[in-house]
Amino acid sequence: TTNASVTAGSIDSLSQHFPACMSHLHRSLRRDAHLKHYGRLQYSLFLKGIGLNLEEALMFWRGAFHKVTDDQFNKEYRYNVRHVYGDVGGDSNRRGGGYSPYSCQKILTEHPPGPGEAHGCPYRHFNMENLSVLVQAMGVNDRAVMQGIKEDKESQKYHMACNRVFEHLNKAEIKRAKDEGVLTANQLETIVHPNEYFKRSYLLKN
Ligand code: SF4
Repeated sequence: TTNASVTAGSIDSLSQHFPACMSHLHRSLRRDAHLKHYGRLQYSLFLKGIGLNLEEALMFWRGAFHKVTDDQFNKEYRYNVRHVYGDVGGDSNRRGGGYSPYSCQKILTEHPPGPGEAHGCPYRHFNMENLSVLVQAMGVNDRAVMQGIKEDKESQKYHMACNRVFEHLNKAEIKRAKDEGVLTANQLETIVHPNEYFKRSYLLKN
């Protein structure tokens, strides 16, 4: 979907285009060298969706889980990664080439994260204090934007907060694209999928 060359080694740099949910998963993975089950699932499906192939995905996850032995990795984690790509597992999964990346709707409503879990949607599942730390780390340092996020969160318009952050972080590029008349109707619609967030951010900045 993009021309990004997506390899195990490029994820750190591509993560500047990630929405808050995936940015948090990536930061947690780098901090802890580990993610729990639903975090691995949410994040590996997203990475598959941005174009990370199975071989690169196995390299990425093996490198990220650097505190475990090869034996542990092969036993506990390799199967999960291959399963996401439909390389192993049930018939319908295999036929379909694996599972689809989760939409915001799914992330917002299924399996709310418990203690020590990093999946979910930060706009919904974080308290305001932790949320402001995360969005500041993503580059939001504008008081009005922060206030808008707070109000969106309080009125449970989580994806509006996410779109607000997207528009703020890509303000200059969106303005230029609008002036040049190159934004399609689709690119002006509200983002409701993490992979769409990535794609639009990547295309605007490249
Ligand atoms: Fe991720 Fe969607 Fe939440 Fe944005 S609104 S952080 S893309 S789940």
